[in-house]
Amino acid sequence: MKILISDAFDPSLPAKLEVFGEVTEDKARLAEVDVVLVRSKTKCTRDYIDQATNLRLIIRGGVGLDNIDVEYARSKGIQVFNTAEASAVAVAELAFALMIAVPTRLVDGHVAMSGRKWLKKELKRSELMGKTLGLVGAGNIGTELARRAIAFGMRVIAYDPLLKSHECVDLVSLDALFGQADYISLHVPLTDSTRGMINADTIAQMKDGVTIINTARGGCVNEQDLVAALRSAKVRAYATDVFMSDPPDAACPLYDAPNAIMTPHLGASTRENMLRIGDVVVRILEDFQQHTA
Ligand code: NAD
Repeated sequence: MKILISDAFDPSLPAKLEVFGEVTEDKARLAEVDVVLVRSKTKCTRDYIDQATNLRLIIRGGVGLDNIDVEYARSKGIQVFNTAEASAVAVAELAFALMIAVPTRLVDGHVAMSGRKWLKKELKRSELMGKTLGLVGAGNIGTELARRAIAFGMRVIAYDPLLKSHECVDLVSLDALFGQADYISLHVPLTDSTRGMINADTIAQMKDGVTIINTARGGCVNEQDLVAALRSAKVRAYATDVFMSDPPDAACPLYDAPNAIMTPHLGASTRENMLRIGDVVVRILEDFQQHTA
């Protein structure tokens, strides 16, 4: 079996994969390989798949499959897997950090201190305790965030039309969530039903001064509408790890928006998670080898 590691995985992974066959990081050898490992950088489009004439398996280290034309791959007999649950803790910890950075004034305090300004009186803080967190999507990451928010004394509600019950949050309608949440955190895949779901109309339904956290996908939010809401202070802050593209276009309106806190798509990038993803990749390859032997 020939395996192409096309994106950045843990440095220990190539050695762990040698038991399955030849491992290469040379993308020019795409046409030779049976297996491709990608994260989000490599786009497995129709063209890409057509070039991979021996391909039998694509493994995406991570959650979404939106960088892979899954339907086309499967139509060519290529199996597609991701490492769905591995990243939940890593992303939930970042979502929590983005959320708590807002009421603690962490970024404002740091930026002021870096500029030698002592804003002790000016920077007014508030607390998460007693506030309502609304999760849009309560799967693996949403659930990990809920556990952490509950530990901080927050009330957690969620909108997730595919769930009938949830272990630790109250499931509510999207209207109820928008009407009640002080913090809204997105944990949905990017689909036709979630693309642009945070827009001028839905923002109008939210509480004044709501904070929105996005570790899902940039495309779930209409950035122009969001920036207008930041400027009017309808939205107190937008804390995001994800953008319309990686990295955002130079014209991205968030760069100049007030109260936008941004990280460069770091959600899954913990050392621990890279090791967990590697372990899941090995398990997928073991199964694949067993079933195709
Ligand atoms: P998951 O599949 O466990 O959970 C997603 C949940 O969203 C499911 O429960 C599903 O029922 C729900 N859902 C689907 N459509 C919905 C809709 N229209 N409205 C409300 N809920 C809806 O996935 P997860 O592991 O929790 O990951 C969620 C998303 O986080 C991924 O799809 C990916 O886009 C993103 N992600 C980002 C990073 C990062 O680095 N920032 C890393 C991993 C995942």
